[in-house]
Amino acid sequence: MDMTAGQNGGSGNGNRGGDGRYDVVVIGGGAGGLNAALVLARARRRVAVVDAGEPRNAPAARMQGFLSRDGMPPAALLEVGRSEVAAYGVDLIDGSVDEVLQEPREGGGPGGFSVGLAGGAVLRGRHVLLATGLRDELPGLPGVREQWGKDVLFCPYCHGYELRDRPIGVLGTHPGAVGHALLLRQWSADIVLFAHTLEPSEDERARLAARGVRVEEGEVKRLAVEDGTVRGVELADGRVVPREAAFVFPRMVPRDGMLAGLGCARDEMGWPATDRAGRTSVPGVWAVGNAADPRAQVVTAAGMGAAAAFALNLDLVDEDVERALLAPVGQG
Ligand SMILES: Cc1cc2nc3c(=O)[nH]c(=O)nc-3n(C[C@H](O)[C@H](O)[C@H](O)COP(=O)(O)OP(=O)(O)OC[C@H]3O[C@@H](n4cnc5c(N)ncnc54)[C@H](O)[C@@H]3O)c2cc1C
Repeated sequence: MDMTAGQNGGSGNGNRGGDGRYDVVVIGGGAGGLNAALVLARARRRVAVVDAGEPRNAPAARMQGFLSRDGMPPAALLEVGRSEVAAYGVDLIDGSVDEVLQEPREGGGPGGFSVGLAGGAVLRGRHVLLATGLRDELPGLPGVREQWGKDVLFCPYCHGYELRDRPIGVLGTHPGAVGHALLLRQWSADIVLFAHTLEPSEDERARLAARGVRVEEGEVKRLAVEDGTVRGVELADGRVVPREAAFVFPRMVPRDGMLAGLGCARDEMGWPATDRAGRTSVPGVWAVGNAADPRAQVVTAAGMGAAAAFALNLDLVDEDVERALLAPVGQG
């Protein structure tokens, strides 16, 4: 089934080329995908953005650390972004991409891609840009998922300032917890590392002690939550250590399953390998934001989207030249 594009604020079928293809199908409409779409549309490219509507920071009330946008609700940023790209004729499509397949090469030119959505619709694009973000897999302790993004957090740069000088717990559910606790000490002098299943080495204990980070031994049973707010960390022995927020290290997984059939190379951590512009090992496939780099913040993801759009448009310019060279004079 082909897809009637532009059903959600886009410019309808008029945005696709005569061959029914978009220049670029962007998968994911967070900061990375929308910024790429903005730059590409301003370069007069035909662009569709397919978005499942679940940006990573959705559970948080505010987005911090984006110059000129500091403290803005995450959804408000995306609302502005969507209306900006729609004004340039980008087709915004609510949906989820299941599969991306390479189309056969045409003559000497590069083949494009078919992008399959849940429900059976298919879009075609000359290039595909992955901006689907990542999935945070949280430790299974009661209270963690319920409070995630409120007072159970991961990123000190996003939330540390708002919790400055407050009593903070770091849950020892990940080998990175010792470093996490030492980092958080920059924002508050009252940090407790809950060892849980970790066994910090003597050296780690010395480093924690030197910075005044207390280590609470014993397994964590749950977060003590009252009236929708973390009040403390409950240990298996029944003690509750009062805390106003808890930090955890999730397992981060790129949302890139739809690329499985393309054979994109991966880096040593298992993420799609890209160059600095977001080019993957498969020509015509790009990846930006958290789908390519778990460290990317919102502003970084947006910047990666813009940088990829520059390079992607240049590749399309080269392809257009090659095609024109093969066409009868004056028809390229
Ligand atoms: C609780 C929390 C708070 C945070 N706070 C901040 C903060 O204050 N400041 C900051 O800079 N960063 C913050 N971050 C990090 C921030 O969320 C990321 O840096 C940012 O979201 C990355 O942008 P992105 O465009 O790569 O991905 P996302 O924003 O996650 O957007 C990806 C989009 O792709 C869509 N998608 C996924 N799969 C598919 C599919 N198969 N088909 C179609 N669409 C799909 C998703 O639904 C989503 O809409 C926070 C993260 C968390 C978890």
